[in-house]
Amino acid sequence: MPTVYLNGKFIPAADACVSPLDRGFIFADGVYEVIPVYHGLLFRLEDHLQRLDQSLAGIRLTQPLAHAQWKEMLSNLVDKNGGGDLSVYMQITRGVAPRDHAFPIDIPPTIFAMVTPLKPLSPEIVQQGVTAVALEDIRWKYCNIKSIALLPNILLRQQAIENGATEAILIRDGKVTEGAASNVFIVTDNRLTTPPKGPGILPGITRDLVLELANTHGISAHEEEISLTNLQNADEIWLTSSTREIIPVTSLDGKSVKSGQPGPLWIRVSQIYQQYKQDIIDHLETA
Ligand code: PMP
Repeated sequence: MPTVYLNGKFIPAADACVSPLDRGFIFADGVYEVIPVYHGLLFRLEDHLQRLDQSLAGIRLTQPLAHAQWKEMLSNLVDKNGGGDLSVYMQITRGVAPRDHAFPIDIPPTIFAMVTPLKPLSPEIVQQGVTAVALEDIRWKYCNIKSIALLPNILLRQQAIENGATEAILIRDGKVTEGAASNVFIVTDNRLTTPPKGPGILPGITRDLVLELANTHGISAHEEEISLTNLQNADEIWLTSSTREIIPVTSLDGKSVKSGQPGPLWIRVSQIYQQYKQDIIDHLETA
C-alpha cells in the first residue's frame, strides 16, 4: 500500500480523506507539480519548487511551506515508498470552506503528495516515436500557471486518443503553444526551436533543461514562435515532459514527419539528456 502525504501526515493511501467541500473538488481552486525521481533523488527539485511558487502567486495563494520543508517532506515520502524511479505528484488547494467563489479567510490550504512508479520509455516509442494531431488550443489565458483545472487538456488529449494519436499539439492564432501535457520542439535544418515562454504555455522544466543542454553542447537552439506550417514542414518534432522526458513525434495529422523515424538530433539530445541524468545520480550518490 503506497504512503501519501496529507496535511502534515504520512498515511496509507487508502486512509487519505479530503472533504467534498475542499475548493479543489468544488472549484479546481489549486495548483500542482510533478517531479521525477531517479534512484530516489528528486530531479531538478529547486526548479519545480520555484515554478510552484509562481503558480501559487498566480492564484494568490500563500506558499504554505519553505523550500527546505518541501524538500524534507518529499524526500521522506520517496523513502517511505521505497525510493527508486518514481513520479511525485503534489497539489495545494485553497482548503475546505462553504461553497463561495470569493476567497475564504484564514483557512489552511490542503496539501497533498503521492508517488507513482516512473516507467522508462517503451522500446516502441524509442524506435518508432509517437503520433500527434494538431488541435485548436481551447484553454484559458494563464497557461503558465500549473492549475489543477485540466478539463480542456483532458478533452484535447481524449480527442487525440480517439484520433489514434498519443498527444495533441495545440495551436492558437496559427501558432504552436504546447502539447496537452508537454512542451513542443521542432528541428528544421538542424536548428532546434521551441515557443518562447509567456502566458500561453507552461514553462516546462524539461524544456528548459533541453535548451540548457543544447547550449552547452553547441546545438543551435532558439525560443521563437512556430507557425502551424513550420510544424507541418519540420524535420523533427519532439515533446518534452518530466515523466516522459523527450519523445519524438513521427507522424502529425496522419502524415509522416520526414522519414517517419525518430530523427538524428532527437537521438543525439536524448543521449545527452540520459548522460546528464546519470552524471547527477553518480555525483549525488558519491557525495
Ligand atoms: N505543458 C503542459 C500543459 C504540461 O502539463 C506539462 C507536463 N506537466 C508540460 C508542459 C511539461 O512540463 P515539465 O517538463 O515541467 O513536466
